[in-house]
Amino acid sequence: MPSPGHRSTSLRYIEDCCPRALDHYEAGVPYDRDVFQVGVAAHAVIEMVGKYPDQPREELAQQVAVALCTTGRSFEGEPEGPLRPQAATAGRDLALRFLAAHELSPSAKFEHGLAVDREWRPVPYDSPAVYYRAAIDMLEVVEETDEDGYATTTIVTTDWKSAWPTSPDELETLQLHGQAAVALAHYPDAQVLRRRAANLRTLAIFEADVYLDDSGLAQVATWRKDIDLLIAVAEHRSEDGTRPARAGATCIGCPYVSRCEPARTWLRGSLLDATPEAVATRLAVADAVRRELWEQAKELCGEGPVSIPGGEVGFLTVRERKPRPDIGEVLALAWFGAADPTTWREANHSTDQWIGLLQTLAIGVGSAEQVAKLLFPSGKGRDWRPLREALVSQCVVSQPATKFSIAKHSTPKEEANDEV
Ligand code: SF4
Repeated sequence: MPSPGHRSTSLRYIEDCCPRALDHYEAGVPYDRDVFQVGVAAHAVIEMVGKYPDQPREELAQQVAVALCTTGRSFEGEPEGPLRPQAATAGRDLALRFLAAHELSPSAKFEHGLAVDREWRPVPYDSPAVYYRAAIDMLEVVEETDEDGYATTTIVTTDWKSAWPTSPDELETLQLHGQAAVALAHYPDAQVLRRRAANLRTLAIFEADVYLDDSGLAQVATWRKDIDLLIAVAEHRSEDGTRPARAGATCIGCPYVSRCEPARTWLRGSLLDATPEAVATRLAVADAVRRELWEQAKELCGEGPVSIPGGEVGFLTVRERKPRPDIGEVLALAWFGAADPTTWREANHSTDQWIGLLQTLAIGVGSAEQVAKLLFPSGKGRDWRPLREALVSQCVVSQPATKFSIAKHSTPKEEANDEV
Protein backbone atom coordinates (compact mmCIF):
# COMPACT_ATOMS: atom_id res chain seq x y z
CA MET A 1 0.00 0.00 0.00
CA PRO A 2 1.51 3.36 -0.97
CA SER A 3 0.38 5.27 2.14
CA PRO A 4 -0.27 4.12 5.69
CA GLY A 5 -3.77 3.46 6.95
CA HIS A 6 -6.95 2.32 5.30
CA ARG A 7 -9.50 3.98 3.08
CA SER A 8 -12.88 3.03 1.68
CA THR A 9 -11.41 1.71 -1.57
CA SER A 10 -9.30 -0.85 0.24
CA LEU A 11 -11.93 -1.80 2.81
CA ARG A 12 -14.47 -2.28 0.04
CA TYR A 13 -12.54 -5.33 -1.10
CA ILE A 14 -13.32 -6.90 2.25
CA GLU A 15 -16.96 -5.86 2.10
CA ASP A 16 -17.58 -6.88 -1.51
CA CYS A 17 -15.11 -9.74 -2.01
CA CYS A 18 -13.01 -11.30 0.75
CA PRO A 19 -9.94 -10.38 2.84
CA ARG A 20 -7.57 -12.03 0.36
CA ALA A 21 -8.70 -9.54 -2.29
CA LEU A 22 -7.08 -6.83 -0.16
CA ASP A 23 -3.78 -8.78 -0.34
CA HIS A 24 -4.06 -8.74 -4.13
CA TYR A 25 -4.83 -5.02 -4.10
CA GLU A 26 -1.89 -4.19 -1.85
CA ALA A 27 0.44 -6.39 -3.92
CA GLY A 28 -0.58 -4.44 -7.03
CA VAL A 29 -1.93 -7.53 -8.81
CA PRO A 30 -3.06 -6.11 -12.17
CA TYR A 31 -6.70 -6.09 -13.13
CA ASP A 32 -8.77 -4.39 -15.76
CA ARG A 33 -9.37 -0.81 -14.62
CA ASP A 34 -10.84 0.36 -17.92
CA VAL A 35 -14.26 0.53 -16.38
CA PHE A 36 -13.11 3.38 -14.10
CA GLN A 37 -11.43 5.52 -16.73
CA VAL A 38 -14.37 7.77 -17.63
CA GLY A 39 -14.97 8.49 -13.95
CA VAL A 40 -11.28 9.20 -13.36
CA ALA A 41 -11.27 11.75 -16.18
CA ALA A 42 -14.50 13.40 -14.99
CA HIS A 43 -13.14 13.71 -11.44
CA ALA A 44 -9.90 15.25 -12.69
CA VAL A 45 -11.71 17.83 -14.82
CA ILE A 46 -14.05 18.88 -11.99
CA GLU A 47 -11.10 19.13 -9.61
CA MET A 48 -9.18 21.47 -11.91
CA VAL A 49 -12.23 23.58 -12.75
CA GLY A 50 -12.92 23.86 -9.01
CA LYS A 51 -9.35 24.80 -8.20
CA TYR A 52 -9.02 27.32 -11.03
CA PRO A 53 -12.46 28.90 -11.35
CA ASP A 54 -11.09 31.94 -13.24
CA GLN A 55 -9.60 29.88 -16.07
CA PRO A 56 -11.67 29.26 -19.23
CA ARG A 57 -13.46 26.04 -18.37
CA GLU A 58 -13.43 24.29 -21.77
CA GLU A 59 -9.72 24.95 -22.26
CA LEU A 60 -8.87 23.70 -18.80
CA ALA A 61 -10.94 20.57 -19.33
CA GLN A 62 -9.20 19.90 -22.63
CA GLN A 63 -5.77 20.30 -21.02
CA VAL A 64 -6.71 17.80 -18.33
CA ALA A 65 -8.00 15.30 -20.89
CA VAL A 66 -4.83 15.61 -22.97
CA ALA A 67 -2.61 15.15 -19.90
CA LEU A 68 -4.59 12.10 -18.80
CA CYS A 69 -4.21 10.29 -22.08
CA THR A 70 -0.58 11.25 -22.63
CA THR A 71 1.24 11.25 -19.29
CA GLY A 72 -1.48 9.60 -17.18
CA ARG A 73 -2.06 10.51 -13.57
CA SER A 74 -0.66 9.65 -10.20
CA PHE A 75 -3.00 8.39 -7.50
CA GLU A 76 -1.94 8.38 -3.84
CA GLY A 77 1.65 8.78 -5.01
CA GLU A 78 1.45 5.84 -7.43
CA PRO A 79 1.76 6.63 -11.14
CA GLU A 80 -0.99 5.14 -13.34
CA GLY A 81 -0.78 4.62 -17.07
CA PRO A 82 -2.40 6.95 -19.61
CA LEU A 83 -6.15 6.70 -20.14
CA ARG A 84 -7.76 5.67 -23.42
CA PRO A 85 -8.52 8.84 -25.43
CA GLN A 86 -12.20 7.83 -25.73
CA ALA A 87 -12.43 7.54 -21.94
CA ALA A 88 -10.68 10.88 -21.39
CA THR A 89 -12.97 12.73 -23.79
CA ALA A 90 -16.07 10.99 -22.42
CA GLY A 91 -15.05 11.95 -18.87
CA ARG A 92 -14.27 15.52 -19.95
CA ASP A 93 -17.70 15.91 -21.56
CA LEU A 94 -19.45 14.30 -18.61
CA ALA A 95 -17.79 16.78 -16.24
CA LEU A 96 -18.54 19.80 -18.44
CA ARG A 97 -22.18 18.79 -18.77
CA PHE A 98 -22.45 18.45 -15.01
CA LEU A 99 -20.71 21.78 -14.40
CA ALA A 100 -23.08 23.52 -16.79
CA ALA A 101 -25.94 22.37 -14.57
CA HIS A 102 -24.29 22.80 -11.16
CA GLU A 103 -21.97 25.63 -10.18
CA LEU A 104 -19.15 24.78 -7.82
CA SER A 105 -18.74 26.71 -4.61
CA PRO A 106 -15.75 29.11 -4.89
CA SER A 107 -14.81 28.44 -1.26
CA ALA A 108 -14.85 24.63 -1.60
CA LYS A 109 -11.76 22.44 -1.46
CA PHE A 110 -11.32 19.74 -4.08
CA GLU A 111 -9.81 16.27 -3.70
CA HIS A 112 -9.19 17.24 -0.11
CA GLY A 113 -7.47 14.57 1.97
CA LEU A 114 -8.47 14.15 5.62
CA ALA A 115 -7.12 11.48 7.95
CA VAL A 116 -7.50 10.23 11.53
CA ASP A 117 -5.43 8.11 13.87
CA ARG A 118 -6.56 4.93 15.65
CA GLU A 119 -8.45 7.02 18.23
CA TRP A 120 -10.22 8.93 15.43
CA ARG A 121 -8.23 12.07 16.18
CA PRO A 122 -7.28 14.29 13.22
CA VAL A 123 -3.78 13.76 11.81
CA PRO A 124 -2.05 15.01 8.65
CA TYR A 125 -2.91 13.00 5.54
CA ASP A 126 0.64 11.72 5.17
CA SER A 127 1.27 11.03 8.85
CA PRO A 128 2.61 7.57 9.73
CA ALA A 129 -0.13 7.50 12.41
CA VAL A 130 -2.92 7.45 9.78
CA TYR A 131 -5.52 4.81 10.61
CA TYR A 132 -8.26 5.81 8.17
CA ARG A 133 -8.32 8.49 5.51
CA ALA A 134 -10.64 9.88 2.91
CA ALA A 135 -9.93 11.94 -0.19
CA ILE A 136 -13.07 14.07 -0.41
CA ASP A 137 -14.05 15.13 -3.91
CA MET A 138 -15.46 18.45 -2.68
CA LEU A 139 -15.47 19.77 0.88
CA GLU A 140 -17.27 22.93 1.93
CA VAL A 141 -17.60 24.66 5.27
CA VAL A 142 -20.86 26.59 5.20
CA GLU A 143 -21.39 29.23 7.91
CA GLU A 144 -24.97 30.48 8.26
CA THR A 145 -26.69 32.75 10.75
CA ASP A 146 -30.45 32.66 11.06
CA GLU A 147 -32.67 35.65 11.78
CA ASP A 148 -32.38 35.04 15.54
CA GLY A 149 -28.62 35.37 15.26
CA TYR A 150 -28.03 31.65 15.77
CA ALA A 151 -24.91 30.58 13.84
CA THR A 152 -24.59 27.15 12.26
CA THR A 153 -21.54 25.52 10.74
CA THR A 154 -22.33 22.78 8.22
CA ILE A 155 -19.61 20.56 6.82
CA VAL A 156 -20.58 19.36 3.35
CA THR A 157 -18.79 16.41 1.78
CA THR A 158 -19.65 15.71 -1.86
CA ASP A 159 -18.72 12.65 -3.87
CA TRP A 160 -18.91 12.58 -7.68
CA LYS A 161 -20.31 9.34 -9.08
CA SER A 162 -20.13 8.43 -12.74
CA ALA A 163 -22.16 5.20 -12.47
CA TRP A 164 -25.63 5.44 -13.98
CA PRO A 165 -27.40 3.66 -11.10
CA THR A 166 -26.13 6.09 -8.42
CA SER A 167 -29.13 6.66 -6.15
CA PRO A 168 -29.84 7.93 -2.61
CA ASP A 169 -28.57 4.52 -1.40
CA GLU A 170 -25.07 5.86 -2.08
CA LEU A 171 -25.43 8.09 0.99
CA GLU A 172 -25.40 5.02 3.21
CA THR A 173 -22.20 3.46 1.93
CA LEU A 174 -19.00 2.88 3.86
CA GLN A 175 -17.34 5.55 1.73
CA LEU A 176 -19.78 8.37 2.50
CA HIS A 177 -20.17 7.40 6.15
CA GLY A 178 -16.37 7.37 6.42
CA GLN A 179 -16.08 10.81 4.83
CA ALA A 180 -18.57 12.24 7.32
CA ALA A 181 -16.87 10.59 10.30
CA VAL A 182 -13.42 11.85 9.28
CA ALA A 183 -14.82 15.33 8.59
CA LEU A 184 -16.29 15.45 12.10
CA ALA A 185 -12.86 14.65 13.56
CA HIS A 186 -11.42 17.67 11.71
CA TYR A 187 -14.35 19.99 12.37
CA PRO A 188 -15.53 19.01 15.88
CA ASP A 189 -17.35 22.32 16.39
CA ALA A 190 -19.69 21.83 13.43
CA GLN A 191 -23.41 21.55 14.08
CA VAL A 192 -24.35 19.66 10.91
CA LEU A 193 -22.69 17.08 8.67
CA ARG A 194 -24.13 17.00 5.18
CA ARG A 195 -23.11 14.15 2.91
CA ARG A 196 -23.86 14.42 -0.78
CA ALA A 197 -23.58 12.09 -3.76
CA ALA A 198 -23.75 13.66 -7.22
CA ASN A 199 -24.72 11.47 -10.18
CA LEU A 200 -22.70 12.94 -13.06
CA ARG A 201 -24.85 11.09 -15.61
CA THR A 202 -28.32 12.08 -14.48
CA LEU A 203 -27.17 15.36 -12.86
CA ALA A 204 -29.08 14.42 -9.71
CA ILE A 205 -27.62 15.33 -6.33
CA PHE A 206 -28.66 13.34 -3.27
CA GLU A 207 -27.99 14.56 0.23
CA ALA A 208 -28.62 13.76 3.87
CA ASP A 209 -27.87 15.70 7.04
CA VAL A 210 -26.78 14.58 10.46
CA TYR A 211 -27.47 17.15 13.19
CA LEU A 212 -24.71 16.77 15.71
CA ASP A 213 -26.83 16.46 18.84
CA ASP A 214 -26.54 13.34 21.04
CA SER A 215 -28.40 11.20 18.55
CA GLY A 216 -26.38 12.47 15.55
CA LEU A 217 -23.11 11.92 17.38
CA ALA A 218 -24.23 8.38 18.24
CA GLN A 219 -24.98 7.82 14.57
CA VAL A 220 -21.47 8.89 13.55
CA ALA A 221 -20.00 6.74 16.34
CA THR A 222 -21.78 3.74 14.81
CA TRP A 223 -20.23 4.49 11.41
CA ARG A 224 -16.81 4.64 13.05
CA LYS A 225 -17.43 1.26 14.66
CA ASP A 226 -18.43 -0.19 11.27
CA ILE A 227 -15.12 1.01 9.86
CA ASP A 228 -13.20 -0.20 12.95
CA LEU A 229 -14.66 -3.65 12.37
CA LEU A 230 -13.57 -3.76 8.74
CA ILE A 231 -10.12 -2.52 9.68
CA ALA A 232 -9.88 -5.26 12.33
CA VAL A 233 -10.65 -7.79 9.56
CA ALA A 234 -8.09 -6.11 7.29
CA GLU A 235 -5.42 -6.32 9.97
CA HIS A 236 -6.04 -9.97 10.78
CA ARG A 237 -3.66 -12.32 9.01
CA SER A 238 -3.15 -16.05 8.94
CA GLU A 239 0.07 -17.61 10.21
CA ASP A 240 1.62 -17.44 6.75
CA GLY A 241 1.06 -13.67 6.67
CA THR A 242 -1.78 -13.71 4.15
CA ARG A 243 -5.35 -12.65 4.76
CA PRO A 244 -7.92 -15.47 4.68
CA ALA A 245 -9.50 -16.31 1.31
CA ARG A 246 -13.19 -17.11 1.18
CA ALA A 247 -13.84 -18.39 -2.30
CA GLY A 248 -17.47 -18.78 -3.29
CA ALA A 249 -20.16 -16.33 -4.35
CA THR A 250 -17.75 -13.70 -2.97
CA CYS A 251 -15.66 -14.22 -6.14
CA ILE A 252 -18.44 -12.90 -8.39
CA GLY A 253 -17.33 -9.39 -9.29
CA CYS A 254 -13.93 -9.76 -7.59
CA PRO A 255 -11.44 -8.17 -9.99
CA TYR A 256 -8.77 -10.72 -9.04
CA VAL A 257 -10.70 -13.90 -9.74
CA SER A 258 -8.57 -14.91 -12.74
CA ARG A 259 -5.34 -14.48 -10.83
CA CYS A 260 -6.35 -15.60 -7.35
CA GLU A 261 -4.70 -18.85 -6.31
CA PRO A 262 -7.40 -19.95 -3.81
CA ALA A 263 -10.06 -19.41 -6.50
CA ARG A 264 -8.00 -21.35 -9.05
CA THR A 265 -7.53 -24.15 -6.53
CA TRP A 266 -11.28 -24.53 -6.33
CA LEU A 267 -11.54 -24.71 -10.10
CA ARG A 268 -8.81 -27.34 -10.29
CA GLY A 269 -10.28 -29.21 -7.31
CA SER A 270 -10.99 -32.89 -7.57
CA LEU A 271 -14.29 -33.62 -9.27
CA LEU A 272 -14.55 -36.56 -6.88
CA ASP A 273 -15.17 -34.05 -4.11
CA ALA A 274 -18.87 -33.93 -4.82
CA THR A 275 -20.30 -32.74 -1.52
CA PRO A 276 -23.03 -30.18 -2.05
CA GLU A 277 -20.79 -27.44 -0.57
CA ALA A 278 -17.83 -28.33 -2.80
CA VAL A 279 -19.86 -28.44 -5.99
CA ALA A 280 -21.72 -25.24 -5.12
CA THR A 281 -18.46 -23.41 -4.34
CA ARG A 282 -16.80 -24.64 -7.53
CA LEU A 283 -19.85 -23.56 -9.53
CA ALA A 284 -19.79 -20.06 -7.99
CA VAL A 285 -16.07 -19.63 -8.71
CA ALA A 286 -16.49 -20.94 -12.26
CA ASP A 287 -19.38 -18.53 -12.78
CA ALA A 288 -17.25 -15.63 -11.51
CA VAL A 289 -14.47 -16.54 -13.96
CA ARG A 290 -16.98 -16.97 -16.78
CA ARG A 291 -18.49 -13.52 -16.16
CA GLU A 292 -15.06 -11.90 -16.20
CA LEU A 293 -14.02 -13.71 -19.38
CA TRP A 294 -17.32 -12.86 -21.01
CA GLU A 295 -16.75 -9.12 -20.53
CA GLN A 296 -13.10 -9.41 -21.58
CA ALA A 297 -14.02 -11.37 -24.72
CA LYS A 298 -16.73 -8.84 -25.63
CA GLU A 299 -14.08 -6.15 -25.48
CA LEU A 300 -11.52 -8.13 -27.50
CA CYS A 301 -13.83 -9.65 -30.11
CA GLY A 302 -15.40 -6.33 -31.10
CA GLU A 303 -13.68 -6.32 -34.48
CA GLY A 304 -15.36 -9.55 -35.56
CA PRO A 305 -15.96 -13.13 -34.40
CA VAL A 306 -12.89 -15.12 -33.47
CA SER A 307 -12.58 -18.69 -34.75
CA ILE A 308 -11.75 -21.29 -32.14
CA PRO A 309 -11.68 -25.07 -32.41
CA GLY A 310 -15.21 -26.25 -33.06
CA GLY A 311 -16.84 -22.85 -33.42
CA GLU A 312 -16.52 -19.12 -32.98
CA VAL A 313 -16.96 -16.41 -30.35
CA GLY A 314 -18.06 -12.85 -30.92
CA PHE A 315 -20.95 -10.71 -32.03
CA LEU A 316 -22.85 -13.15 -34.21
CA THR A 317 -26.03 -12.83 -36.19
CA VAL A 318 -28.59 -15.10 -34.64
CA ARG A 319 -32.31 -15.62 -35.12
CA GLU A 320 -34.13 -14.13 -32.18
CA ARG A 321 -37.71 -15.01 -31.33
CA LYS A 322 -39.86 -12.22 -29.95
CA PRO A 323 -43.52 -12.09 -28.95
CA ARG A 324 -45.82 -10.41 -31.46
CA PRO A 325 -47.69 -7.34 -30.18
CA ASP A 326 -51.06 -9.20 -30.14
CA ILE A 327 -49.78 -12.32 -28.37
CA GLY A 328 -52.22 -11.92 -25.48
CA GLU A 329 -55.24 -11.81 -27.76
CA VAL A 330 -54.07 -14.75 -29.89
CA LEU A 331 -53.53 -16.92 -26.84
CA ALA A 332 -56.87 -15.91 -25.32
CA LEU A 333 -58.75 -16.79 -28.52
CA ALA A 334 -56.97 -20.14 -28.71
CA TRP A 335 -57.54 -20.88 -25.04
CA PHE A 336 -61.30 -20.30 -25.23
CA GLY A 337 -61.56 -21.96 -28.62
CA ALA A 338 -63.05 -18.85 -30.19
CA ALA A 339 -63.16 -19.49 -33.92
CA ASP A 340 -64.58 -16.07 -34.75
CA PRO A 341 -63.04 -13.20 -32.73
CA THR A 342 -65.84 -10.72 -33.56
CA THR A 343 -68.64 -12.97 -32.36
CA TRP A 344 -66.64 -13.93 -29.34
CA ARG A 345 -66.01 -10.31 -28.40
CA GLU A 346 -69.71 -9.49 -28.74
CA ALA A 347 -70.63 -12.38 -26.48
CA ASN A 348 -68.03 -11.50 -23.83
CA HIS A 349 -68.23 -7.87 -22.83
CA SER A 350 -65.21 -7.81 -20.52
CA THR A 351 -62.96 -9.39 -23.13
CA ASP A 352 -61.10 -6.21 -24.06
CA GLN A 353 -60.32 -5.46 -20.43
CA TRP A 354 -58.63 -8.70 -19.62
CA ILE A 355 -56.94 -8.96 -23.02
CA GLY A 356 -55.51 -5.57 -22.07
CA LEU A 357 -54.37 -7.14 -18.82
CA LEU A 358 -52.69 -10.01 -20.68
CA GLN A 359 -50.87 -7.56 -22.94
CA THR A 360 -49.70 -5.58 -19.91
CA LEU A 361 -48.25 -8.75 -18.37
CA ALA A 362 -45.74 -8.86 -21.26
CA ILE A 363 -46.26 -12.51 -22.10
CA GLY A 364 -43.10 -14.06 -23.51
CA VAL A 365 -42.24 -16.78 -26.01
CA GLY A 366 -41.99 -19.39 -23.24
CA SER A 367 -45.54 -18.67 -22.08
CA ALA A 368 -46.86 -19.12 -25.64
CA GLU A 369 -45.12 -22.48 -25.86
CA GLN A 370 -46.54 -23.48 -22.51
CA VAL A 371 -50.11 -22.61 -23.58
CA ALA A 372 -49.58 -24.51 -26.84
CA LYS A 373 -48.41 -27.57 -24.88
CA LEU A 374 -51.47 -27.49 -22.66
CA LEU A 375 -53.89 -26.99 -25.55
CA PHE A 376 -52.28 -29.64 -27.74
CA PRO A 377 -50.77 -32.29 -25.47
CA SER A 378 -48.45 -34.80 -27.10
CA GLY A 379 -49.98 -38.16 -27.77
CA LYS A 380 -49.75 -41.02 -30.15
CA GLY A 381 -51.62 -40.65 -33.37
CA ARG A 382 -52.65 -37.05 -32.85
CA ASP A 383 -51.63 -34.02 -34.90
CA TRP A 384 -50.49 -32.10 -31.84
CA ARG A 385 -47.11 -31.06 -33.26
CA PRO A 386 -48.30 -28.95 -36.25
CA LEU A 387 -51.09 -27.47 -34.12
CA ARG A 388 -48.62 -26.41 -31.46
CA GLU A 389 -46.26 -24.99 -34.03
CA ALA A 390 -49.07 -23.09 -35.76
CA LEU A 391 -50.19 -21.45 -32.52
CA VAL A 392 -46.64 -20.52 -31.49
CA SER A 393 -45.90 -19.07 -34.91
CA GLN A 394 -49.02 -16.89 -34.60
CA CYS A 395 -47.62 -15.53 -31.33
CA VAL A 396 -43.94 -15.26 -32.13
CA VAL A 397 -41.86 -13.53 -34.76
CA SER A 398 -38.35 -14.65 -35.62
CA GLN A 399 -35.92 -11.96 -36.70
CA PRO A 400 -32.17 -11.56 -37.09
CA ALA A 401 -30.28 -9.96 -34.20
CA THR A 402 -26.66 -9.42 -33.28
CA LYS A 403 -25.70 -11.04 -30.03
CA PHE A 404 -22.42 -11.73 -28.31
CA SER A 405 -22.33 -15.49 -28.08
CA ILE A 406 -20.40 -18.69 -28.42
CA ALA A 407 -21.43 -20.70 -31.48
CA LYS A 408 -20.57 -24.36 -31.75
CA HIS A 409 -20.40 -25.61 -35.32
CA SER A 410 -22.95 -28.33 -35.89
CA THR A 411 -21.61 -31.78 -36.60
CA PRO A 412 -23.15 -33.67 -39.55
CA LYS A 413 -24.92 -35.94 -37.04
CA GLU A 414 -26.48 -32.98 -35.23
CA GLU A 415 -27.56 -31.45 -38.51
CA ALA A 416 -29.22 -34.71 -39.44
CA ASN A 417 -31.07 -34.73 -36.09
CA ASP A 418 -32.16 -31.13 -36.65
CA GLU A 419 -33.90 -32.18 -39.80
CA VAL A 420 -35.96 -34.87 -38.11
S1 SF4 B 1 -11.24 -14.41 -6.22
FE1 SF4 B 1 -12.51 -15.07 -4.55
S2 SF4 B 1 -11.10 -15.98 -3.06
FE2 SF4 B 1 -9.89 -14.74 -4.47
S3 SF4 B 1 -9.74 -12.76 -3.52
FE3 SF4 B 1 -11.47 -12.65 -4.86
S4 SF4 B 1 -13.21 -13.18 -3.56
FE4 SF4 B 1 -11.37 -13.84 -2.48
